[in-house]
This record gives sequence, structure tokens and C-alpha cells, in this order.
Amino acid sequence: MSIEAKQYINGEWTGSASGQRATRENPSNINETIGNYPLASAEETNAAIEAAHRALPAWKAMPWPARSEILHRAANILDENKEELARLMTREMGKPIAEARGELKRGVVLLRYYAGEGMRPSGEVFPASDGKTLLYSNRIPLGVVGIITPWNFPVAIPLWKMAPALIYGNTVVWKPAEPSSITGFALMQLLEKAGFPKGVINMVAGNGAIVGQCITSHPLVHGISFTGSNDVGRKVALAAVERGVKYQLEMGGKNPTIVAADADMRKAVDLTLSAAMRFAGQKCTATSRVIVEESIVPAFTEMIVEKARSIKLSDPLEDDCYLGPVVTQTQHSNILASVGRSAKNGASLLTGGKAPDGKQGYFIEPTIFGRVDPSSELGQREIFGPVLGIIPARNLEHALELANDVKFGLSAAIFSRDISRILKFIKSAEAGMIKINGETAGVEPHAPFGGLKQSSSHSREQGRAAIEFFTSIQTIAISPADDQ
Ligand code: NAD
Repeated sequence: MSIEAKQYINGEWTGSASGQRATRENPSNINETIGNYPLASAEETNAAIEAAHRALPAWKAMPWPARSEILHRAANILDENKEELARLMTREMGKPIAEARGELKRGVVLLRYYAGEGMRPSGEVFPASDGKTLLYSNRIPLGVVGIITPWNFPVAIPLWKMAPALIYGNTVVWKPAEPSSITGFALMQLLEKAGFPKGVINMVAGNGAIVGQCITSHPLVHGISFTGSNDVGRKVALAAVERGVKYQLEMGGKNPTIVAADADMRKAVDLTLSAAMRFAGQKCTATSRVIVEESIVPAFTEMIVEKARSIKLSDPLEDDCYLGPVVTQTQHSNILASVGRSAKNGASLLTGGKAPDGKQGYFIEPTIFGRVDPSSELGQREIFGPVLGIIPARNLEHALELANDVKFGLSAAIFSRDISRILKFIKSAEAGMIKINGETAGVEPHAPFGGLKQSSSHSREQGRAAIEFFTSIQTIAISPADDQ
């Protein structure tokens, strides 16, 4: 059944005023239409922002146990409906079902975590220099926050932004990404059942250049939390700076894995491939460069290519799917174009590099290039597909230099048994997330998450770190009324 998604503004479900809608097909079977979603206008986006503004005073004045209760209810409702939503997510954007189920479980954990956040300390007391004044700091909400999210984690990312925003007393206008707007609609339907007062959460679907830009430039929006590409992130930041409002950006990566000569080779091969190929390389923390010490390059290359060739491209609804399609036709052609340019420019294509025969979807074979030039497109640009480049390094120092020689700094990993080398890596890796003998992809919901360099605006998300973005600090000094 084709789904007619709606937007959620001021507690009401609406279509698009202009009647304009976009269709989503199943990326693993382009003959199946999943549904369509409205393309909101600037006026509709403004209406959502104004609704959030009107809802703000009552929501921020609501005692935290009441806000917490609503988030607990949202967690329970999501928990009860997680299989259905996971299947929809897989059908809409091709995430293998096991990973979609994992994302839903994480969504439930995120809601539960932030439901409890209201009772944790929100300020500090300082000794006043006159010995009489009560000097303390307190956290207050920003106001209306705009939340702009990408398609690749269409449940977890909106929740890890919205749940803290809400528990700290902000109201929300959320824009899901175009390729996951129907999953966004289904998530919003579940959140509605939790009983948020009208206007507290609003969801506006549509074109980023219209809806997104409207959110970033509206005078009633006091904070913008964005996850997505660097090109769009830059626009969001410029619009926020122009108005002097707080913003947070989490963006792309070109994540390296170093394989040292002393590594457990089997483990390094398995986890590097998993980080590069699962969900077709469409995680911001996916490994796209594997930097291997020269002496083991031939053995490592042979093992990883052999294993990549054994990966079966399959329907992402199959329980054991390892590699499904990429999300859209545009992504599919961009990835293949990048692979084609790299091969033409002399990179050595070891396996994959094309769409498989006989598939009715946006599939790309697991692709590995050998002896990649670190300064080339493959070595520098985020390709966001099932494409891995092997870069040889003379020694660990050289490997560290290569790992850091990109503009991004999201996640980095090393495989080694040598504690001295591991410590050196931790000290010099220019990445917000560091993994030792683990894959670059994957983060815990309660630990800080974010990148260095151009991967982030240097704030952090998830866990306790979220309080830093979604609140402002006030410092209060209460002195005695008289000097007695
Ligand atoms: P994108 O930048 O194309 O879109 C992200 C969101 O921005 C969408 O909702 C889009 O509609 C909106 N948008 C587009 N133009 C806009 C504008 N002018 N103003 C405001 N909003 C606008 O990114 P995407 O393709 O959805 O996601 C993939 C990217 O996201 C990759 O670069 C990936 O690395 C990154 N990502 C980063 C993280 C992280 O936490 N660092 C996590 C997931 C994805």
C-alpha cells in the first residue's frame, strides 16, 4: 500500500498547500512505490515555527517530571512499533533490516535516556567573594530549535537531537531529509501518540533549499542542530551566524583505518570490510581509506579482496543482508561516476566498480581500489558508497601522517597488538571518535559523539554532552536585601 505522508504543524496533520508532492520508490526494487510526501512551502514552514513559538512558554514552564513522562511514553510506543518502522525504513532507504532494527532499538534507548535527563543537575554553585551572596549557574532552554536531519539514520539522528531539545524545555521544528521523509512521517505519527501539547514538536517535509533555508533564517528560531553534508552545513552556519543564533553541525568524514604490521589480520579484514561495506558505506563513520603497513599490503589486499568478492548483494529485507542498495538514483550515479573517474585517473580497481546485472534497484558491487594515491579523489573526497581505497604506508609514522591528511576528522581506527603504537595513534589521530581494534563505524548512544576539523562545528551530541548545545547558561547572584 502506497503511503500518503503528511506534515505535522501545530498538532495537526496537513498535506501541502500547493499540492506539490514527491514520490519515494524502494531503492532495492524501483518498481515498488513506497509512497509520497508533501513539499512544504515557506509559508507552511513559518506556520510550524510560529506554532513552536506559541507552545514554548507552557512547555518550558512544565515541570520536568511531566516532560519526562511524555518522553517515557514515546519510548514505549516506539518500542511497541519498532518492527513495523524498521521495515518501512528498509523499504524506503535500503538499510539492511538487521541494522534498521538496531537503529530502532537505539531510538528507544535514546528516548529513555533523555526522559531521565530532566532530574539530573543543571547548574553549579560557586563560592561568592563577599561570603554572603548565593552565586550559582542554571541552564535554560534556547527557545524554538530547528532540527535538520539526513536520510541515513532517519530515526536515531532525529531522536538524539529532539529528545534532549525537548527535555531541556525547547520546542522543535524538524525537517527530515527528502529520501527518508516517509519514515520521518511514520516516526512523527508515533511521537504524536505520546501526547506532546500542540506546537511542541512540528515536522515539515520538503525541499532543503526551501524548508531548510526557511528554518535557518527565521527570526523566531533560536538554535539550529544540523546533520548532513559539508556543503549544506556551511550554508546553515552562515545563516545562523548572520542572525547570531546558536548552531551545531555534524557533517561528513573520510574515515581511516590503519592496519599495523602486527595486527590480527583476520580481524582487521573482517571489521574494515564491515565498516566500509555495510549499509553500502553510507554511514558518516564508514571506513573509506584503509592505510596498511607496506610489509603486509600484499597479504592484506589478497584477503580483503577475496572476502569482498564473497559478499552477496541482497534484498535488504532479508535478515542476513550484508550489502543492499544505495539510497537514490542520484547517489547511485554519483558513486559510479566517482569510481569511473578514479579508474580512469589510474587507481587500480581490484574488485567491483559497477552495478550488478539483473537487479531492479540501486545496487553497487563492493568496490576496492589498491595503491590509492592519498591526494586523489578517492583519498580525499567523501564518496558515501561501498567503495574502499587501500593506501600503503612505509611505517606507523607515515600511516598517521596519511590518516590525518584530509580535511575531515570524524572517526579513525587502528588494528594493532602493540600498546606503544596504539598509544601513539590515540595521541596523534585527528578524529573525534577513536577505535582500537574495532571498526570506525558505530557509536554508543550515551557517549559523546562528533568530529574534529571540518566534520563538525566542534560541539558534541548524545549523552550528557547534548546539554551543552540545547541549553544556555545563566549565572545568578542573590545577595542579602540589607547589610545586617
Ligand atoms: P544533505 O546535506 O544533502 O541534507 C541534510 C539535510 O539538510 C536534509 O534534510 C536536507 O533537506 C537539508 N538541506 C538541504 N539544503 C538545505 C539548505 N540550503 N538549508 C538548510 N537545510 C538544507 O545530507 P544528506 O545527503 O541527507 O546526508 C548525507 C551526509 O550527511 C553525508 O555527508 C554524511 O557524512 C553526513 N552525515 C553526518 C553524520 C554525523 O553525525 N557526522 C551523520 C549522518 C550523516
